[in-house]
Amino acid sequence: MQYVTLNNGVEMPVLGFGVYQIPPEQTERAVSEAIAAGYRLLDTAAAYGNEEAVGRAVKNSGVPREDLFVTTKLWVQDAPAQENTRRALETSLTRLGLDHVDLYLMHQPFGDVYGQWRAMEDLNREGLAKAIGVANFYPDRLLDLTVNNEITPQVNQIETHPFFQRTADQDLMREHGVQIQSWGGFAEGRNELFTQPLLAGIGEQYGKSVAQVVLRWLTQRGVVAIPKSVRAERMAENFDIFDFELTDDQMAAIATLDTGASLFFDHRDPEIVAWLAKRRIDA
Ligand code: NAP
Repeated sequence: MQYVTLNNGVEMPVLGFGVYQIPPEQTERAVSEAIAAGYRLLDTAAAYGNEEAVGRAVKNSGVPREDLFVTTKLWVQDAPAQENTRRALETSLTRLGLDHVDLYLMHQPFGDVYGQWRAMEDLNREGLAKAIGVANFYPDRLLDLTVNNEITPQVNQIETHPFFQRTADQDLMREHGVQIQSWGGFAEGRNELFTQPLLAGIGEQYGKSVAQVVLRWLTQRGVVAIPKSVRAERMAENFDIFDFELTDDQMAAIATLDTGASLFFDHRDPEIVAWLAKRRIDA
């Protein structure tokens, strides 16, 4: 496995396993199979409702805790943010059966972002989260958070795939020492990604699938990827990307697929803000 070093020295695998939309009753099996396939980075969230199952799989894996990198996420909190953020992480840790997470992400750029962030800084200093970061922050919000707080986010997890490549966002993050992590690396299969002709053609040259080309392209760009699958054979396929390298010409060809727009939702759209910011979960 290859690793990236975050701005506080913590090492994070370049490829992990995401569990969004895996029903809780399937999650323990899926995560156990992912760990057996070699994944060491696991990405869950309080909002996914499957932290307990992730925790059971971790506990039963037989893999030493220090070899695993567990991420979970803070949902938007009611005031007071300081108190509620601490309680939310403690609740997540109880569900996971862990005494710390490797990465704690603010899931959405909404609510009392500054109060939540300062609470996360404290939790980081106390060792309950070895690294802290954000998700779904566009460059303006990310920069504002970064310049007005003590700890620069270690990670920003954002929608990143061949149809929404985020290269300018990545440049800004690189400049400020924030590691980019892709969610929806396959765009959840939208736009017929898995049969996209250019990607399929490149894959044929290496005996690789479109999924493998996409993950190779992401990691070769320095983007950490966390593909989700409930199928063991796909988990293995998605992990098998370290024995080939895309050429500069192939990277440039893939760059032409960028539409510069989200395939899901825009976190700057007022309707989306109203919908996400008001949603509450149990934590
Ligand atoms: P994704 O990884 O882009 O796509 C998952 C889809 O691709 C599933 O339908 C899966 O089906 C299919 N798939 C996986 N491997 C495949 C392969 N080799 N060939 C063909 N199909 C394949 O979507 P995602 O789950 O939305 O994103 C990945 C992770 O990012 C999530 O699990 C979550 O951890 C994180 N995430 C974070 C946020 C955020 O706001 N921070 C938002 C969304 C996601 P099967 O399961 O049937 O194989």
